[in-house]
Amino acid sequence: MIPIAKPYLTKDEAQLAYDTIQSGWVTQGPKVAEFEEKFASYVGSKYAVALSNCTTALHLAMIVTGVQSGDEVICPSMSYIATANSIKYVGATPVFGEVNPETYNLDVNHVESLITDRTKAVLLVHQIGMPADIDAFKVLSEKHNLVLIEDAACAVGASYKGKKIGSHSDIICFSFHPRKVITTGDGGMIATSIEHYHDRIKLLRQHGMSINDQVRHKSTKVLFEEHVEVGYNYRMTDIQASVGIKQIDKLDWIVEERRKIALKYIDSLRDIDCIRLPIEQEGYFSNYQSFSIYLKDHAPISRNELMEKLLENGISSRRGIMTSHREPAYNGEYSNVSLPASEDACDNSIIIPLYIPMDDSDTQKVIDNLRSLLA
Ligand SMILES: *Cc1c(COP(=O)(O)O)cnc(C)c1O
Repeated sequence: MIPIAKPYLTKDEAQLAYDTIQSGWVTQGPKVAEFEEKFASYVGSKYAVALSNCTTALHLAMIVTGVQSGDEVICPSMSYIATANSIKYVGATPVFGEVNPETYNLDVNHVESLITDRTKAVLLVHQIGMPADIDAFKVLSEKHNLVLIEDAACAVGASYKGKKIGSHSDIICFSFHPRKVITTGDGGMIATSIEHYHDRIKLLRQHGMSINDQVRHKSTKVLFEEHVEVGYNYRMTDIQASVGIKQIDKLDWIVEERRKIALKYIDSLRDIDCIRLPIEQEGYFSNYQSFSIYLKDHAPISRNELMEKLLENGISSRRGIMTSHREPAYNGEYSNVSLPASEDACDNSIIIPLYIPMDDSDTQKVIDNLRSLLA
């Protein structure tokens, strides 16, 4: 069976995690600090703060940017549900914007039409690793005095206008779940260049404690911590950070290898006129966290039938990106919301296997099956 995805992990990660376990310091400590430094220098931000996952990163991003109860935050419905949930955590209301069907990223004109007196922020997703038009959203946010938060859960290693995602705006959240491009088992990171965001995120991730474990441990004097506000336990462990340190060294290579497979899919399928393939415009550099294919009206087979036939032939696939407003957790409150482009993209697209290393024969098998079922 050809899987849909597979993390790229080697002995390097296992060795450093082993060394960390042997050191006796396993929770947030020197390895987390080292991973943060490497990450910030990789993406080109002043600071990076490691967290337990991207969902907790998004939650803290809401808090430090001042999003609160009564506020509205515009985000795509067509995203993993954690995007919308993070807005709910602070008592604010997600307002769902429509996506551009070619990129699956938020449509800036539709977002502008949704702005009200209560709109506090835009949560911009770089869907499945394809950068959104950050500059357009920066202009919009400045014009309407909104906070811009990037949900870059899928976008580590992607670039926009020649610079890595993580360096363009004030607060950017990343995921290291195994389904993303690099992994720490679970894990997240906030990149920021704003000092007071950095300071408060570090406080909030560790119970609001004024001094962290490591400082107390190293001190030659007795130190007493204070808890200056109600915080959380959103720490990453040093074991996870050890894996991350090795993953970040390989990230550019991993992205290049993923892109070779994506470009092979595009080259081999581009003549099939009943499908639409990912489009990477000038200035946009995707990490191809996922490879999605959209089936047009005149496709000879439905999306679900296609998934079944592929499975019969030993190829895993997944439905396209979900829409949050149609999930049970939201569909009561959002029963009046209609997002035709998002719904159509969700219902008629499929995600096909892409991971590294992927045998040429497996890539070819996916291509041959798609050609025989669609062409
Ligand atoms: C995966 C994902 C998340 C959640 O990341 P976790 O690290 O699993 O919490 C959030 N937003 C988007 C767009 C995602 O794809």
